[in-house]
Amino acid sequence: MDMVDTSVVVVGSGFGGLSTACYLADAGADVTVLEKNEQLGGRASRLEADGFRFDMGPSWYLMPDVFERFFGHFDRSPTDYYELTHLDPHYRIFFKDGDRVDVRPDMEHNRAVFEEYEPGAGDALDDYLRRAEKNYGVGMEEFVYTDRNRFRDYVSWDVVKNARGLSLLGSMQDHVEKFFDHPKLQQIMQYTLVFLGGSPHNTPALYNLMSHVDFNLGVHYPEGGLGGVVDGIAELGSELGVEYRTDHEVTAITGHEGDFLVHSGDRRTPADLVVSDADYAHTEQNLLPAEHRQYDADYWESRTYAPSAFLLYLGVEGDVDPLAHHTLVLPTDWDRHFHQIFDEGEWPDDPAYYLCVPSETDDDVAPEGYSNLFVLVPVAPGLDDGPEQRERYREMILADVAENTGVDLRDRIAFEEQFSVSEFADRYNSMRGTALGLAHTLRQTGPMRPGHRSSAVDGLYFTGSYTTPGIGVPMCLISGEHTADAVLDDVDRPHRRLSWS
Ligand SMILES: Cc1cc2nc3c(=O)[nH]c(=O)nc-3n(C[C@H](O)[C@H](O)[C@H](O)COP(=O)(O)OP(=O)(O)OC[C@H]3O[C@@H](n4cnc5c(N)ncnc54)[C@H](O)[C@@H]3O)c2cc1C
Repeated sequence: MDMVDTSVVVVGSGFGGLSTACYLADAGADVTVLEKNEQLGGRASRLEADGFRFDMGPSWYLMPDVFERFFGHFDRSPTDYYELTHLDPHYRIFFKDGDRVDVRPDMEHNRAVFEEYEPGAGDALDDYLRRAEKNYGVGMEEFVYTDRNRFRDYVSWDVVKNARGLSLLGSMQDHVEKFFDHPKLQQIMQYTLVFLGGSPHNTPALYNLMSHVDFNLGVHYPEGGLGGVVDGIAELGSELGVEYRTDHEVTAITGHEGDFLVHSGDRRTPADLVVSDADYAHTEQNLLPAEHRQYDADYWESRTYAPSAFLLYLGVEGDVDPLAHHTLVLPTDWDRHFHQIFDEGEWPDDPAYYLCVPSETDDDVAPEGYSNLFVLVPVAPGLDDGPEQRERYREMILADVAENTGVDLRDRIAFEEQFSVSEFADRYNSMRGTALGLAHTLRQTGPMRPGHRSSAVDGLYFTGSYTTPGIGVPMCLISGEHTADAVLDDVDRPHRRLSWS
């Protein structure tokens, strides 16, 4: 195999694109990343204004083991680029009936909280987490790090045998009910599904492994926020020889393997191979000629998209106690919330939402005497988010925060910016303004997600959250590894020896 002298253009600089670029540059390729926006990182963009610095998208640093594995491949460690702080509490939940729960690194504390709600639930929590840990081990090895892109590999006997005890097909709701009766305990075990863009009813129980992620592996804060991680990976890429061009929106990808042209208006970048980390639907429908598309418009129309979001980035005078770095506010009727997002396509009228307050941990994200926070409300993708609707929703959410957490932000907002369905569509070329891409429903898991290799045109590859393993920063880092493996496999196969090599 020889990647030396092979030129690769990566379209889009989300974690999937940055990761693929590192792996391929490390293998000897000449890699250029072309990014539409003014900065690298994709959904993990940063907003800086008036002394405030916001992570605009991801804010939970989960699965530290995945980042160690990623940097380890290049004989580095995350701490070569950023330090981590283990958060305590991991997160705080305000239930809208007045209850408040902290999930902490201290498991004795968590057991006691569960026991208070339901006698025996402390032991049930231990049991649940033991299984989640086992599932995490098997799931990561068999389904996440191993890219089983053919259905028959995914369900092969060996895998099923190895995955014994891993309930793949039932819903998360059914799984959690076997352990806990109390609705609030069920909610605590299920909230992680919002990271996957799913609901307890449409997400397979396989994802109970997420509880191992948040209870056992812990929730950390990287120095500089998630933007600091983007900087770290981009720096690693530079060390490996990756070239980055921002403000460079790709408008078409023409040509073929060994002779692609990546167009950006009048600018053209030649490439032997192309990897797209831009949203899959956008790449296929807007950048490729019809004969190079794998899926038709009906395919993209009929997918289940993860929610979009209504986001308020707020710089606020004074402190915001008792909000924690990660705070969730959950309604008692949470089924209705999911029903409105996934079935009705509506703005939830009693939403579950998330407040992120990095100024609780990091002095550099707000001027002295101010707090930095954002409010993230998952809403249905494709909604009309005109000014009147936004104003109505903003008022409702700020009133809800005041009522349910006791923190009234309304008279002390020094900086504010909104980001919702239209901005997701405009800034990231996102189909229906989905915040996260394709939801992890059973039909959109594993080999049922669109592939890393194009089946319509040799030499074109895909990476990022639409592909396997899926949504989330750690998953997109791994998808970069899978995509690079697919490229290297193809270059390596004698019968597929590429024409220019
Ligand atoms: C609000 C929010 C909160 C989240 N919270 C978390 C969290 O706490 N923890 C977590 O792990 N994950 C979280 N996620 C999910 C995570 O951020 C994403 O799954 C991941 O970052 C997506 O990476 P990606 O590789 O798919 O690329 P993306 O980040 O989607 O980047 C794709 C890039 O392609 C660019 N692009 C698009 N079209 C073109 C074009 N034509 N030419 C050039 N460039 C183009 C876009 O500008 C973008 O930069 C969150 C996401 C959002 C939106």
